[in-house]
Amino acid sequence: MIDLAVLKGSSFVVLGLARSGLSTVRALAAAGIECVAWDDNPPSREQAVGMGATLVEPAAIDWSRVSALIISPGIPNRLPTPHPAAVAARAAGKPILCDVELLARAEPKARFVAITGTNGKSTTTALIGHILEEAGMRSEVGGNIGRGALDLAPLGVGGVYVLELSSYQLELLATFRANIAIWLNITPDHIDRHGDMAGYVAAKKNIFARQQSGDCAVIGTDDEPSRAIEREIAGRPGVTCVPLALDAPVAGGISYRAGMLIDADGYTVDFSDVPTLPGDHNAQNAAAAWAACRWLDVPREKIVAGLRSYQGLPHRQERVASVGNAVYINDSKATNADATARALSSYRNIYWILGGQAKEGGVAPLAAYFNRILHAFLIGEASDLFASQLRGKLPYTRCGDLQSALDAAHAYAQREGGAPSVVLLSPACASWDQWKSYEHRGDAFRAMARALPGARRLGKAA
Ligand code: ADP
Repeated sequence: MIDLAVLKGSSFVVLGLARSGLSTVRALAAAGIECVAWDDNPPSREQAVGMGATLVEPAAIDWSRVSALIISPGIPNRLPTPHPAAVAARAAGKPILCDVELLARAEPKARFVAITGTNGKSTTTALIGHILEEAGMRSEVGGNIGRGALDLAPLGVGGVYVLELSSYQLELLATFRANIAIWLNITPDHIDRHGDMAGYVAAKKNIFARQQSGDCAVIGTDDEPSRAIEREIAGRPGVTCVPLALDAPVAGGISYRAGMLIDADGYTVDFSDVPTLPGDHNAQNAAAAWAACRWLDVPREKIVAGLRSYQGLPHRQERVASVGNAVYINDSKATNADATARALSSYRNIYWILGGQAKEGGVAPLAAYFNRILHAFLIGEASDLFASQLRGKLPYTRCGDLQSALDAAHAYAQREGGAPSVVLLSPACASWDQWKSYEHRGDAFRAMARALPGARRLGKAA
């Protein structure tokens, strides 16, 4: 746990008592710092009381005595409707912050690698954490992934915090400075919370706020808004900008494509045989990790070793089992067509399991990948829509549920004379029609695939 003694004498309101809120209460209480807490959910409130917080309803808070509001990033503080506590804090002139800001204040001598982007944050964060760990550097990984910022271990001078930061968290920082800021990409998302695309870009751009001479900005340049950001940041004196570009030479930056990256000095890394980093998108994540680790002076061969031993994250093109020449892949995190496109573009000879609660447009945007698919297996609410979109373009079978779809796909994969193929769960849909979450759906798929006759277990994940 982070030692917040440096904040002694302050007084905080913690609003929202899920993972990061409760860890904030715990760290404040451990440092003997006054902490008022609230959550609409009574059991969470009880937990906070057990940790030493005082409960006060937002309307009854005396803001004159409060140093700052620490708000859970999931709770709106501006749009679409600000929480009343945020309105009151703002009216009283109090800063609205998140736990990452407190970490930064408590660890002024540590270094911070911050990662944002619409897609690829978790993978890039986990990959950097893995490389640093393998290279024997003192580092901790957290933020929007895994452990909350204040649950991490104190690192002090020279330690490296690798933090995945969402746009919501980035809006709630006041002094946090990223020594290395990574911006992967941006496409419209979370517009309800940011008002419009410009608001979303502005929130994410906070990752570069307060960067100083000697710091590094790693920026993916494969979409227009990100190119505009790169042009802006590259003009800042002192900050070294490392652009990343798909399949194109880029001055001072890193060019990448599936299974390969080329550093600015021409140094080339071929990781096309690393099964946990398939596709152009993972090459972008690898290029970003490469840039960050080089900036931290990790020797090249250690970075290469880390890329090669990376095990991947659950539910993101996770290789869970093989039977004969067929590999079974859990991509349950792909809850929209865009994410599924990444997976489809990574393989050929695909038996594709898809469906659930459809998103706007369904699978129509995926037509360019249909030639990679041998057969589609439909599940869940979206079956009618997807059948109408696939009719005449792809052979498909309506299967109803996941177990039936896996059994059918398995039968196809094993009867094709053992030719190499993948059985891919990449639903392009939300899971809520049949499952509690995408993790629930993916965990079930992993267990089902590993229970197939003759299955060989792949991967480390649970
Ligand atoms: P995030 O944490 O930003 O949601 P993840 O690393 O969990 O990102 O990846 C989620 C999904 O996003 C992956 O399953 C893949 O489909 C897609 N993805 C991963 N990396 C990238 C990238 N660099 N660019 C575009 N899409 C990506």
